[in-house]
Amino acid sequence: MDQVRLRRLRELLEEEKRELLQVVEGLTGPGGLESPADEADRELSAYDNHPADYGSQMYERSKDLGLLQATRQHLLEIEEAEKAMAAGTYGICQGCGGSIPEERLLAVPSTRFCVDCKKEREQEDAAERPVEEEALRRQVDDEIAGKLDYMFDQDSAWEEVAQFGTSNSPAEEA
Ligand SMILES: [Zn+2]
Repeated sequence: MDQVRLRRLRELLEEEKRELLQVVEGLTGPGGLESPADEADRELSAYDNHPADYGSQMYERSKDLGLLQATRQHLLEIEEAEKAMAAGTYGICQGCGGSIPEERLLAVPSTRFCVDCKKEREQEDAAERPVEEEALRRQVDDEIAGKLDYMFDQDSAWEEVAQFGTSNSPAEEA
């Protein structure tokens, strides 16, 4: 990747980082998520302490916590991408080692995976598989392993025959 493109991507990463830091600041600032719990309680009691209000406050709070977690995760990914830039490994897929297409990097500058590997990982990370499905998957894996063993056996059988044939064949020596 040439320097001009790399610089553009670095700018995109820095832009993204600034925005994310603002989100974190907004969420954790005074009266925010990480101020002492009793302070949040006092604020609550200053208003009408209706259970429904409390419920929606809790809902807002857990939503914000989710957002904060996701934002911090994204910031870590950006830092990783910046490290990769410094190390000269930026734009290389961590899954298959192939180069990540530039359009993808421009769309998601912090990505470390090509589209295919990303999809694969998302499928692996998907919700817990039911036990039955897991058992079935193992069974299929065993079947594949069995086939591979079979092929391997065929191969070595052929090799043995070939060795026998060539070492006793005068035509091969000529
Ligand atoms: Zn890949």
